[in-house]
Amino acid sequence: MGFKKEIYLQLVQEMQQKHVTMVAVSKTKPTAEMQEAYDAGVRDFGENYVQELTEKQALLPTDIRWHFIGHLQTNKVKYIAPFVHLIHGVDSEKLLIEINKQGKKLNRKINCLLQIYIAKEETKFGMNETELRTTLNLLPKLDYVNVCGLMGMASFTDNDQLIASEFSYLYDLFKNLHNELQISNPPFQYLSMGMSSDYPIAIDAGSNMIRIGSLLFGERKYQ
Ligand SMILES: *Cc1c(COP(=O)(O)O)cnc(C)c1O
Repeated sequence: MGFKKEIYLQLVQEMQQKHVTMVAVSKTKPTAEMQEAYDAGVRDFGENYVQELTEKQALLPTDIRWHFIGHLQTNKVKYIAPFVHLIHGVDSEKLLIEINKQGKKLNRKINCLLQIYIAKEETKFGMNETELRTTLNLLPKLDYVNVCGLMGMASFTDNDQLIASEFSYLYDLFKNLHNELQISNPPFQYLSMGMSSDYPIAIDAGSNMIRIGSLLFGERKYQ
């Protein structure tokens, strides 16, 4: 039980060599275990629920970089806008516009990743390529968001080849946009893909940001 420090230290060293950022996904885990993780060196934490995130943020050290990785509702953006480091799951134009609005109120540029739908499942969120293009066309008008990359989740399956092909598709899209958007500032640079079960496949496919929960904190128990 508790934070798995040995696994973390091994994994973080490997990720540093590969220039991959590791986000420790702490959803449903108590702040005591997160403090253990912090003491071991973790500074990037990922959470899925707005209320849980704001409660934990108030209790934990102020130099933590908070990643919001869940499905964000527009009416909840305002609660995390003042401090969130990176919002991974921006899956609609409407949501990006709301984030920009909240950023403007705070005079703060908010970092975002656009979530792309890559899985063969109806349950996952994300934009398709057409929606992505329309959203990118809005960027010159949105002064309070930094779109700094893409995020995606592969199908929940044992078929490693399917997972690899979904990740490769996202990597190609990321690479093309990276070339197109060279001039944007700050650079379009993050590709967030890979979790405990599929991060080696994601890294092979070109991921530079992984979101690891159960491997670091153990299985989650939902009420
Ligand atoms: C929960 C979650 C993770 C972490 O999942 P693990 O399998 O526990 O590593 C990563 N990304 C997202 C979007 C999640 O919701």
